[in-house]
Amino acid sequence: MTKLYAIYGASGCGRSLMAVARQQLAREQEGAEIVFIDDALTEIGMVNGHRAMNYQAFLNETASEKYVQIAIANSRVREKIANRLEADAIQLWSIMADNVTVMDEALIAEGSALSPFVTITSNIKIGKCFHANLYSYVEHDCVIGDFVTFAPGVKCNGNIHIHDHAYIGAGAMIKQGTPDQPLVIGEGAVVGMGAVVTKSVPAGVTVVGNPARIVQPK
Ligand code: UDP
Repeated sequence: MTKLYAIYGASGCGRSLMAVARQQLAREQEGAEIVFIDDALTEIGMVNGHRAMNYQAFLNETASEKYVQIAIANSRVREKIANRLEADAIQLWSIMADNVTVMDEALIAEGSALSPFVTITSNIKIGKCFHANLYSYVEHDCVIGDFVTFAPGVKCNGNIHIHDHAYIGAGAMIKQGTPDQPLVIGEGAVVGMGAVVTKSVPAGVTVVGNPARIVQPK
């Protein structure tokens, strides 16, 4: 019996990550199939040349082992699906593009997706289901929680701590902290695209602009 790999989500995020998944699989083991899972599908079809099915149909597939990359940008949805996969004893699959650079002592937990041109430097710890989109980087001594999302081109400098479910928008840059006083992005915080973050961001808020400031809820 063969292994079966899947990209969960067949919308924008998933269709982009499928190409990354093929590169990952070519490095791991030739010949296995990668399918899309999307719960909006009522029957098995084709998306960009891959079989596509809902989760129930994926469960019904016969395979010795099943691996899933959750390719959905919304981190709360990623967490919900990760919990469901764990309950069903299906493994999270980490994928990275061929040209990703990962330096020394970078611990990246299961389920990550590192898109083309991402760089993860040295002495870094990253939690479950991290998404780093095109051209993002993570510099030395950063600690990143679970279900964190980087849109394309995020510049995360050294000694920054990013807590669970934070979302960093495209092109945002975050000032480096120090070993004694890391710059902290709190749980569930949102950093708007292009923001220049010069100081810590509290949990749950949205910041935008240069220098980044909290957007007050209306
Ligand atoms: N989706 C799913 N199961 C869920 C939640 C979402 O299959 O429990 C699918 C949904 O049908 C959609 C995709 O995930 O096709 C999410 O796509 P969206 O356009 O919202 O965002 P993306 O993450 O691709 O940017």
